[in-house]
Amino acid sequence: MTYFPEGMIPPPVTMDTVGFWEAAREHRLVLQRCDDCGRFQHPPAPVCHRCRSAAVRWADVEGRGNVYTYTAVHKAFIPALQDHLPYVVAVIELPGAGGTRIVSNLVDVAPSDVSIGMEVDLVWDDYPELSVPRFRPV
Ligand SMILES: [Zn+2]
Repeated sequence: MTYFPEGMIPPPVTMDTVGFWEAAREHRLVLQRCDDCGRFQHPPAPVCHRCRSAAVRWADVEGRGNVYTYTAVHKAFIPALQDHLPYVVAVIELPGAGGTRIVSNLVDVAPSDVSIGMEVDLVWDDYPELSVPRFRPV
């Protein structure tokens, strides 16, 4: 299923993020977790944000979360989005990952119906070479 139109700028795949995108292709949401202190982190980095350990590994996490904050975008900064306005950019807090937050989009909801704390669930936005995690109200 595709929620956003093709023609968007794809997210950059780097040495730090390639594991995230490979798992996403299999419709698995993964975050880095530190083997030494147990903390989840996002965005990914070569070392743990808290204890600086290099023992960070990918761990599958649940796609259930809550809207921590959000904004509605009414201007098409990318031409492909001209017919897709307004859309919602949200920070989603993931209780199953120690409250780690991920920036994404809310789909299947009007901006006026979004609220802070709203329960959301993961959906996958599939493109020919990439799957992107988005969220929609439960
Ligand atoms: Zn750590």
